[in-house]
Amino acid sequence: MSKDSLITVENLYRYYGELCAVHDLSFEVRRGEVLGFLGPNGAGKSTTMRIIGGSLAPSGGRVLINGIDILDQPILAKAELGYMPETPPLYRDLTVDEYLAYCARINRIARAQHWSAIDSAKERCGLTEVGRRLIANLSKGFQQRVGIAQAIIHSPAVVLLDEPTVGLDPIQIREIRTLIREVANEHSVVLSTHILPEVQSVCDRVQIINRGHLVLNETIGEMRAKLQATTLLVALRMVPSIAELESIHGVQSVEPLEDGRLRIAFDADRDPSDAIVEQAVANGWGLHELMPERMTLEQVFVDITCADTALPQDSKPNLNPGPDLNPAQAGEAA
Ligand code: ATP
Repeated sequence: MSKDSLITVENLYRYYGELCAVHDLSFEVRRGEVLGFLGPNGAGKSTTMRIIGGSLAPSGGRVLINGIDILDQPILAKAELGYMPETPPLYRDLTVDEYLAYCARINRIARAQHWSAIDSAKERCGLTEVGRRLIANLSKGFQQRVGIAQAIIHSPAVVLLDEPTVGLDPIQIREIRTLIREVANEHSVVLSTHILPEVQSVCDRVQIINRGHLVLNETIGEMRAKLQATTLLVALRMVPSIAELESIHGVQSVEPLEDGRLRIAFDADRDPSDAIVEQAVANGWGLHELMPERMTLEQVFVDITCADTALPQDSKPNLNPGPDLNPAQAGEAA
């Protein structure tokens, strides 16, 4: 476990009867990091989030929140944890101030610090002007902000956000993403989402889970390198010989496509685009299209999650049955 790790997940398993929903999952989230947690429906994301959040027992393995085992010391571990489920647990008949005062109490913030904690959470979430408004009367975007405010009011080390931008309009989405980045300055954030551009714009690390298995765990930098183009699509009116094209510096191979275009593969560090343009002009090839073929995160996601055969057959080890925790077991104050 690294010194900076705020969430440590070790060899996590969760069975529902015979179904293995989470299979030997291990990862860490470091201080200041936003982890994007991706996967198709039924992949095991919510199960993992609920285990990390301490509301579901694992069948095997362990979870440490800031070094504290969530099963051994749930109350201590949960003090380090803020959680916004997909549907934020809001009381619509309360004002924002009343609701956050309630959240301050259930998170055991000392009475003398209640209002400073509430004011700080409101300020960070852009809620200062709406403290006296009924939650029911706020827009969906502002309700999401209240959901995030309740998750950070006790200044936890780790914040879990389940699909925080679902159902918001594009402006609200931008505002909530900015807020998530700000929250990450002081906390570690795990963001479960289906929205792939969200991962690219907000996260430092991306993890993809498929049928309970962790199938990708990379930093956004590593991901960007992977998404960089290493092929070009080229259309020429007068197509020269393949050998002529392959002699251009940087070109690895040339594949004629059915629509008359050429797919030109090249080394990542030697993009031959300029040389192709020069040669096309000099030789009158009539270049009318040259386009880098980039992979998108969506393609990576589809490739990985459709590659079912790569996953090993799950054999059920001898693990405890892992019931849902009741609030007393889970040490839930709320
Ligand atoms: P989604 O994006 O659709 O919410 P997910 O990645 O969050 O999916 P989970 O909800 O964790 O996936 O479900 C993982 C698997 O476990 C699914 O096959 C689901 O049907 C199953 N599952 C989840 N909860 C239970 C339960 N309480 N009892 C039985 N099976 C369950």
